[in-house]
Amino acid sequence: MRIPSDAKKLPHFSIPVLVAVLGILILGIASSVYVYQKVDESGRSSVLQRTQTFAAGVPALALERLRGTEEDLGTPEHETIKTYLTVMRSVNADARFLYIIGQKDEELFFYADSEPAESADYSPPGQIYYEATPAMFAVFEEGERQTEGPDQDRWGLWISGYAPITDEAGNVVALLGMDLPATEYLTDLAIYSALPLLVMLALVCILLILEQTRRKERAYVEQKTEFLSIASHEIRTPLTGIRWAVEGLLKRQNPPLDPKSRVILSLVHESCLGLVGRVNNLLDLSSLEGKTQVLRMEAISIRSFLEDIVDSLLLSARQRDVTLHIDVSVPEDLVVRGDRQILHHAFFNLLTNGIKYTHEGTRVSISYAAEQGMHAFSVSDEGDGIAQSEQATIFTGYHRTREAIRSGQYGTGLGLYLVKKATELHNGSVRVQSTPGNGATFTVRIPAST
Ligand code: ADP
Repeated sequence: MRIPSDAKKLPHFSIPVLVAVLGILILGIASSVYVYQKVDESGRSSVLQRTQTFAAGVPALALERLRGTEEDLGTPEHETIKTYLTVMRSVNADARFLYIIGQKDEELFFYADSEPAESADYSPPGQIYYEATPAMFAVFEEGERQTEGPDQDRWGLWISGYAPITDEAGNVVALLGMDLPATEYLTDLAIYSALPLLVMLALVCILLILEQTRRKERAYVEQKTEFLSIASHEIRTPLTGIRWAVEGLLKRQNPPLDPKSRVILSLVHESCLGLVGRVNNLLDLSSLEGKTQVLRMEAISIRSFLEDIVDSLLLSARQRDVTLHIDVSVPEDLVVRGDRQILHHAFFNLLTNGIKYTHEGTRVSISYAAEQGMHAFSVSDEGDGIAQSEQATIFTGYHRTREAIRSGQYGTGLGLYLVKKATELHNGSVRVQSTPGNGATFTVRIPAST
């Protein structure tokens, strides 16, 4: 017997999953870039807002009178401006440096700053600002507010805002600069822009975990089904041999079997049939539940198809003195499209149940009705029937009614489950109608257009 290897290699992720992962990642990156731009924009705009507010508060008259040279030192106008910058800086604790800069001969120079005169960073009026940046020149040239940074210096990481100070005619006469710590801005930028990417990464992880679990389950089901199928085949072949041999002996007339041997052989035959039935159910289950079932559709001449099944069951029927009857309502020329093997499972199981559960000496019959685009085949018996409360559960698999167990008939409770599967694969259905004590009728419906 070939035992399926349990170390089956799992396939790589499927193309649709990879496409989904790629799509999610691209979406994550795009969202992060978008959020980065938005947070950066709002961070800079808040810096500009504050710088602009300070620029608007600069005493214009005092500024106008400054010359932008060392001579400004000690003048009341310079004192006014210096005081303004110092006060503004002290009420805005996070601002490192506030300064007013002018432009002369293509160079930028200091009018005043917020540093005390004794500070190492103090810049006296008129001092040329050799480290002036293009953004600062742009304020004078374009009259537009600017931000710069974050830049690292010996005090830390800063972001700078520059706002123009204009005269009444709208000419830029100076710029107000402010350096603010960039840590908060950078933290916001990092957190907010990483968020979408992190969410998408989490989604990708969940997707891959789900896919992995699904593949493992599928591989497990396939292995189980394969094993079941191989094992059942291996058992069925010798079992069928035993069955035919016993049936041959039971049929023997010359010399006739002595009654004792006949009884024993009948018991062997019954057990053999029971085993064949169980193995067949397992095989059917594995073939129906295996990989996605692809139906092998063909035109089935239904009357001869049913007659063949009935013929194969004659011996079992005879043992219970049951008559199998194909009603005249099943047309001679009726052709149904379906998978012969799967439909065989279905009718074989229904008729076998009829034989098992009808009363001895009664009849099990198959009839037909054409119903609004459906073929409806009914298998009726004259047994104890099935209580209303159990009519749904008998199709769910491994459920046997108390009457069935009490009847002593062998069974696995899988037959009707397989019938249901087989009909559903044909886009059809199976229903039972029964009044306890008055037999049961199982109706299989298959679309006529299948
Ligand atoms: P089993 O192998 O037990 O016959 P099935 O799946 O074929 O399993 O049927 C499930 C149960 O439904 C049976 O055990 C029996 O209790 C009930 N059943 C099926 N067919 C009939 C019937 N014709 N009459 C009464 N009960 C039935």
